[in-house]
Amino acid sequence: MGCVSVFEKISLCFDVYGCPNRCKHCWIGHKQNKIMSKDGIRKIVNEFADFSSKIEVYSWLREPDFSDEYKNLWEFDKEVSINVKPKRFELLSFYRLVRDEKYIEWLKDFDIKTYQLTIFGNEQTTDYYTGRKGAYKEILKATNILLDNGFIPKWQMFVYKDNIDDIDHVLSLINSMELIDRSKENGGTFQFFIHTGSCDGENSKNYYKWVESSDLHKIPLEYFKNYGKEERLLYEELLQSKDIKKLNESSPVFYIDNEFNIYPNFSEMNEHWKLGNLNLESVEDLLNIYIDNRSPAQSLRNTIPLCDLVVKYGDPNSKKLFSKEDYIDFLINTHFRKLI
Ligand code: SF4
Repeated sequence: MGCVSVFEKISLCFDVYGCPNRCKHCWIGHKQNKIMSKDGIRKIVNEFADFSSKIEVYSWLREPDFSDEYKNLWEFDKEVSINVKPKRFELLSFYRLVRDEKYIEWLKDFDIKTYQLTIFGNEQTTDYYTGRKGAYKEILKATNILLDNGFIPKWQMFVYKDNIDDIDHVLSLINSMELIDRSKENGGTFQFFIHTGSCDGENSKNYYKWVESSDLHKIPLEYFKNYGKEERLLYEELLQSKDIKKLNESSPVFYIDNEFNIYPNFSEMNEHWKLGNLNLESVEDLLNIYIDNRSPAQSLRNTIPLCDLVVKYGDPNSKKLFSKEDYIDFLINTHFRKLI
């Protein structure tokens, strides 16, 4: 095996604290919440430093700031990152926002004005899809806290056949909560968009109720812009494709679960994407697996042409809607699910 090349930057996302939710659309997949040790992380980061001059560290990969130690963890991320400052995103913990008054004040320290929340419809639907009773009420409360503190909420909705009728409920909430006007008063624009998400992780279990082209007339398309193509059209297209592809990047992002298993961030955190375990194998060996495309899913994409994958795992009659890249991931993941 050759020497590992030097990467421009390596981003390491550790699942230090987990997530309060168990969303039905979670592409990462459901994992137990456990606490990871900072010393273990420090050691790993130092080992990665042999392979890039820039190491960006995040102490979360599920809900950010879920830990009571969120302030310390942000300081920790900055401290252990090497030659790069980790970023903040339009993401927060709505679980914390409704429970911890100091959190909203802390968020004001960052140069981020808009924060995204996920809603699925009415109370029953949202609690069901978030996997937690009370989630709906918390999302509405979190939206009000953001607006009352000068922020702009952004709502995303995941749509399936069984919650299309809930779109009207969400639109009526946007109206009754005056989200557009209140966002304007805060100097921004309220955004709302609808999508299906990628059909991997937990969301692959929703394939049977995936939105089809025949459902499009029930969805306001101004909010559902990137609905992709019918599966049968993608099937036809991929049937002509002998494409294989190496899956690796010059600035890779790795997800590390609380058992120190490491995965590239291409799709779900599952056995077939796993590079190995940082407690059992050296960083150099694991990076070589990544570079050589030796995880089972990488290897499949790099050796089996798309035409062969789609013939085996695609449905030539399906009108379900996918983006092409998500559909290819779906085919790869389906291959491994059929092997189980
Ligand atoms: S989608 Fe996000 S918030 Fe929901 S369970 Fe997965 S990691 Fe947690």
